[in-house]
Amino acid sequence: MPRPRKAGDPAKWPEACGRCAEHHKIVVRWPDGAICGYCYQQAKRTRGTCACGHDGVLPGRVDTLPACRECSGVRLNIDCTGCGKEDELHSGNRCWSCILAMTVDRILSPPENQPPSPELQAVATALKSMKRANSGLTWIQQPHVTEFLQQLAAEPVITHARLDEIPASRTREYVRGLLVEHNALPLRDELSTRFSDWAEQALDRITSPNHRDITRRYIRWHHQRRMNQMDEVTRGTFLRAKQAVTVAIELLNWLTDQGAELAEVNQAHLDRWQAEGPTTRGIASRFLDWAIRTNLIDPSLKLQPHRRGTSPRLDAAAQTQHVTNLSHTTDMSPRDRAAAILILVFGQQVSDIVQLTWDTSP
Ligand SMILES: [Zn+2]
Ligand SMILES: [Zn+2]
Ligand SMILES: [Zn+2]
Repeated sequence: MPRPRKAGDPAKWPEACGRCAEHHKIVVRWPDGAICGYCYQQAKRTRGTCACGHDGVLPGRVDTLPACRECSGVRLNIDCTGCGKEDELHSGNRCWSCILAMTVDRILSPPENQPPSPELQAVATALKSMKRANSGLTWIQQPHVTEFLQQLAAEPVITHARLDEIPASRTREYVRGLLVEHNALPLRDELSTRFSDWAEQALDRITSPNHRDITRRYIRWHHQRRMNQMDEVTRGTFLRAKQAVTVAIELLNWLTDQGAELAEVNQAHLDRWQAEGPTTRGIASRFLDWAIRTNLIDPSLKLQPHRRGTSPRLDAAAQTQHVTNLSHTTDMSPRDRAAAILILVFGQQVSDIVQLTWDTSP
């Protein structure tokens, strides 16, 4: 981006610039004329392919078109001693990219000459390859960014969980994004993370340490394992997992109140627990199935299947009226109307409908 220009001052700088024809301080004389400070800056940053085929910085002008040094006769130091490329130099005869790379290496060097972790190397590569080296350098030299990167460099391994322990900031999320983009960290599934956070707190509600252990295993080896095997955890999976764990915890706490361990649970317990509470208690069968598979309880134990929906049924006339209303309403999206009609007409469960995809292709 060219710098914003001040207004020219013919009284102070009587000679007009050969390129922009404005009156600014002349900083160099090139074959195509006197060049002002603004045009000089711009010349160093003009890149492209010269008419001669040279690809690089084109600071000169030949017939008003940008040209390389050789074709235009312009003398300018744009030879980086670091990478050998032609580029605007930053300092010490090195280009911005080389200075950025040196700065990244300096900031990201692990303490006491330890080898950098693969994740740290990925961060370094990502930062060095930033398209605009000058913006990259400005960003990295901000004190809070430098400090964050130095903190990262001191980590033996970088994981999502480790990043979570560093106070939340845009810098943290930006670097997390770079790590994911460069395959140094897996893409984190937001819902599976939320489930894990939620499950950690849910475990605190369990009154018996033994039951807490069992639930932890249930969460880990049933729900989290399944989520980890999915490409993406859907909202339906997330909600069902929460519900299953919630009801399992209720059952376990109830058993504790009865003075029983899960291993001692019998059919009479289950019948009583189910009879005393809402029909959603039937959802505990998912947990009990797991407990049977892992040999924690007697395989013959069973709950009554969960009957979803205890709301009063609509009679035929009311149902027809609702469908008619839904078909004509403009208050709902077509998608929501279609879902509502599926529920009314076919008695579909909401949890099944939310999993449907909207695909209008034949
Ligand atoms: Zn100029
Ligand atoms: Zn040329
Ligand atoms: Zn360089």
